[in-house]
Amino acid sequence: MEMEKLVSLCKRRGFLFQSSEIYGGLNGFWDYGPLGVELKRNIKNAWWQDMVTGHDEMAISQGAPSTYEMTGLDCTIIMHPQVWKCSGHFDLFCDMMVDCRESKKRYRFDQLRGRWVEAKGKKVFVTTLAEAEEEDADLERRALKAFNLRAKDTAQLIWEGTVLSLDKVDSLEAVFAPEAKEIGTLTEPREFNLMFPTTIGALAGEEGRAFLRPETAQGIFVNFKNVIDSTRVKIPFGIAQVGKSFRNEITPRNFTFRSREFEQMEIEFFCHPDESRKWYEYWRDRRMKWYTNLGLAGDRLQLREHDKDELSHYSVGTADIEYAFPFLPDGEYGELEGIAHRGDFDLRSHMEGKLVKNAQGCLEVELGEDGKPKYRGSGRDLQYRDEVTNERFTPHVIEPSAGADRGALAFLCEAYTEDAAPDDKGQMQTRVVMKFHPRIAPIKAAVFPLVKKDGMPEVAQEIYRALKKRFPAFYDEKGAVGRRYRRQDEAGTPYCITVDGQSLTDQTVTIRDRDTLEQWRVKVDDVVEEIASRVS
Ligand code: ATP
Repeated sequence: MEMEKLVSLCKRRGFLFQSSEIYGGLNGFWDYGPLGVELKRNIKNAWWQDMVTGHDEMAISQGAPSTYEMTGLDCTIIMHPQVWKCSGHFDLFCDMMVDCRESKKRYRFDQLRGRWVEAKGKKVFVTTLAEAEEEDADLERRALKAFNLRAKDTAQLIWEGTVLSLDKVDSLEAVFAPEAKEIGTLTEPREFNLMFPTTIGALAGEEGRAFLRPETAQGIFVNFKNVIDSTRVKIPFGIAQVGKSFRNEITPRNFTFRSREFEQMEIEFFCHPDESRKWYEYWRDRRMKWYTNLGLAGDRLQLREHDKDELSHYSVGTADIEYAFPFLPDGEYGELEGIAHRGDFDLRSHMEGKLVKNAQGCLEVELGEDGKPKYRGSGRDLQYRDEVTNERFTPHVIEPSAGADRGALAFLCEAYTEDAAPDDKGQMQTRVVMKFHPRIAPIKAAVFPLVKKDGMPEVAQEIYRALKKRFPAFYDEKGAVGRRYRRQDEAGTPYCITVDGQSLTDQTVTIRDRDTLEQWRVKVDDVVEEIASRVS
């Protein structure tokens, strides 16, 4: 599927709009339109229902080591600045960035993915400045050809800190020819913190400085004790939260995949350290199944365990659930969700202060130049006491952290299908159909009177009103019925109900299945239950 087709459908049918579009848009910010808002809400509701409110029956059958409790939270976006100092975000939540001195353009410098190649006795660094601006895409293709590299290896050439324009380049020689003019020089890579700073009240300087949260997780850790005290939940248990997060991404791109404002669906699952590996494996597999159950089956979805050297210093295991988005080069996958074993890192950080790994590989409080803790923790006791064994311990944490927007984008990509269906004259025509799983489809059913007379609209409207009490439905009486089907196919509506001449004599209507195009008749009185049983 070509990404342009999906992007255009999203705008045309009201799934996604560029934020502030009438003012030229704002890079990295997106609005969900009338269909998009339903899609995203359905994804978040399915997650909450499956992970939090309705988890119990499923948990054991889905391989949970034991029963457990789940509860939710809704924390603020702006939190005490000390939260981010102790969590490590204030010092470490950075990407490497380079600026072009001439054009003042900013690039994310993903050094790890670049490499040096020998060219005419000179060293040329072929870096995946893959996050470069759109207009550089052509440059990337030429560099690829000139150096005979795979798509994922290349993007731009930096030769001794100079960005070369590859306008006329199709061979290595040409890179060093006079027409390979310099288009700019890059500053040294430097760290750029992705947190959005803001100011609280009228306090000037450091005192009023705060940040928009870059993840929802920290709100859960700092409320750990509050949740235990108010609910009396016992370990193992999880706390879930859905909400906005903000990251000042250097180069947002690929539609909503890398946005500056996005929504996360996160769980922090607290368990006994001895049990943590089992719980990690459970959550990793459980989360993967969640996506496949909602229709992301097939080889575009994969579960990837991180290698040991990829793991954060506190983690004994991390896996990513990844999707082969159509905008990525062949063979590349983008992260939808990370499932991390975080040990006791977070709770300890909020008790003791920011932690670092010492020479022995153990976590200890980082000290400032004065020999005192660099950032002080809360000093609160965030340990847990087992009421049966009396054991006191700092729970270990498993964190399944998903992005609602990346999820929505993957479901949109997966749903987009072109097939053939007969038009009003019975001729086969190409149709675009969004094959969403019925649970996440924005509209569950559409109702059409075949023609706008003979009492058909009245019957159709009655059915429509009855459906609307249960789930989003749509009524349409304009134009040829084939055209109306097509519009619903593009919106991803799983069922269309048509009131025709026969309906007026035997009180039955047809239901048409979006994917199989099969049609069957049901009694008007049974329509709501028939649709409800198929979409929940
Ligand atoms: P990436 O490496 O792609 O920047 P990450 O590893 O930093 O992602 P996490 O910090 O693990 O991401 O965040 C958890 C989830 O939040 C991600 O799996 C993703 O679904 C979502 N997410 C993170 N950053 C963004 C973003 N800029 N835009 C949209 N979703 C995001």
